[in-house]
Amino acid sequence: MRLQEASPHARLAYIFDLDGVIYRGDEPQPRAREVVAALAERGHAVRYYTNNSSRTRKFYSRRLHSMGIDAPVDDIMTSSYAAALHFVEAGVQGKTVYQIGEEGIKEELEAVGMRVIRDLDEPDAKIDFVVVGIDREFHYRKLARAQEAILSGAKFIATNEDATFPVEGGRVLPGGGCMVAAIRTATAKRPILIGKPETYALDKILQLADVPAERAVMVGDRLETDILVGNRAGVHTVLVLTGISSREEAEQVSEDMKPDEIIETLAELL
Ligand SMILES: [Mg+2]
Repeated sequence: MRLQEASPHARLAYIFDLDGVIYRGDEPQPRAREVVAALAERGHAVRYYTNNSSRTRKFYSRRLHSMGIDAPVDDIMTSSYAAALHFVEAGVQGKTVYQIGEEGIKEELEAVGMRVIRDLDEPDAKIDFVVVGIDREFHYRKLARAQEAILSGAKFIATNEDATFPVEGGRVLPGGGCMVAAIRTATAKRPILIGKPETYALDKILQLADVPAERAVMVGDRLETDILVGNRAGVHTVLVLTGISSREEAEQVSEDMKPDEIIETLAELL
């Protein structure tokens, strides 16, 4: 989607992915702080949206703050918080969730009144939903429990299906999609996907920022999540080459994942 420049003073919304865009592991990306500060200074809405479900919005707010970026909790969307919003809209607060995941899922879901069970706790509980994200203590018995719950009728929900995420030194680690794939294999069922490339949370961000899609910019490092979600939602899409996807991949990918712009670093946004 072409960015609508009705007036040079139009307020835009910039939605930044985090891993590979604002930072890589604990290292901020070059000039990230300066770029987001300048955009905010010009009156644009700046928001952050990560598919990573492992941490709470509060955690990301503090992490950004430690990098000199002022991002209140309300300006941050995670796939865990999006799952919490999804449960609230479905009116199922008080129901029981079995989670494969970390504190991001637990805290965001409990904050909206879901009952969250982890690991092998409460073996006799009736499970209504299985919510899956990255779990760095994933093991066979968790997989077996998720399998049993889903085969007994619990709804299978994935926060994201990212295969990898980028960390320091150009390396990648296995992402939440690996746990989701294990459960898909064990149950032969597809999950309801909450995070990118589904547009649910991005639409929410725009609605809350009060900016229409044609005046929004999604900045991400991964074609099959960040760019695809932006294209689906009708926002202007920018691929930054500091994370997962390369220029060659962007040139060869199918039309729905092609970014409107490719930039080497965030500095080119200014
Ligand atoms: Mg990323």
